[in-house]
Amino acid sequence: MAEFGAASENEPIWWYETGTDDITLGLRMRLLHRERTPYQLLEIYEHPFFGRVLVLDGNLQTTQGDEFIYHEMLTHVPLLGALPASMNDASVLIIGGGDGGTLREVLRHDWVRRVVMVEIDQVVIERCREFLGFNGNYDDPRVTLIIGDAAQYVAEEAARQRPFDAILVDSTDPVGPGEVLFTPEFIRNAWACLKPGGVFARHLCMPLFDGPIVRDGVARLRQVFPRVEVYQATIFTYVGAQMAFVACTKDGRSVREPQRLLTGRYYNPDVHRAAFALPTWWVTELIDA
Ligand code: SAM
Repeated sequence: MAEFGAASENEPIWWYETGTDDITLGLRMRLLHRERTPYQLLEIYEHPFFGRVLVLDGNLQTTQGDEFIYHEMLTHVPLLGALPASMNDASVLIIGGGDGGTLREVLRHDWVRRVVMVEIDQVVIERCREFLGFNGNYDDPRVTLIIGDAAQYVAEEAARQRPFDAILVDSTDPVGPGEVLFTPEFIRNAWACLKPGGVFARHLCMPLFDGPIVRDGVARLRQVFPRVEVYQATIFTYVGAQMAFVACTKDGRSVREPQRLLTGRYYNPDVHRAAFALPTWWVTELIDA
């Protein structure tokens, strides 16, 4: 949590994340904006190296300096790994993602024809457009933005007949408004919102410090999806650095091999394949435990 009272618009302060017991990330940075939204405490800071930094409820969400790693890996591994190269009308549901980075990456694909983004907190979208400039284009005619609880949206949508090819969960951790997005009920509803060849992906926090989240997250997904594949990327500003992602397919297909070519700033076909090479302890102590 920020050092309340110590921050002013001009003076840099040492900001510490409070998410993990006894170990924290410290960044010396300047507070640019602080506001309590209906859902969370939103803060925007500026750091000399990482640029603008979004913090929600004391947890670092994203920084201008390394956001591309998270957003490219959350988006392109599942989309390019699971959806066939012949597909030219993909529909994608983004859950959360209020900073706009995942939307930007999804819209890079001209074979994606429909994007629905469900974000609970309109203030996050507005402040991120103002302060972060991640260029998620909400005016793109393919995009429908819904302000609401994504758990409720998938529960309602599961009963309708317009399923998605991909669901990307770009949510906060399982605390606060993001908690419902980790429940078995949400996972079952998300499964029901996918076409038969569809893919579901999300991050699963940091294995070094969030072991139970990875273990329970994988176990819950395995109860619903026939194939659950964990992959990783290294992102300095998340405490623990090595982040686990997971991609699950409805028809049991593997997403390890990219079906189309894309070179991003971080993502490329070699990174895609290599991301599935996991440390032994992740597999024995968390994923297959
Ligand atoms: N990359 C980030 C991370 O994992 O640290 C996630 C960033 S993104 C800003 C997370 C977004 O999820 C927030 O804007 C938050 O408002 C949204 N969110 C949390 N719970 C939600 C829910 N139940 N429905 C829709 N959006 C939700």
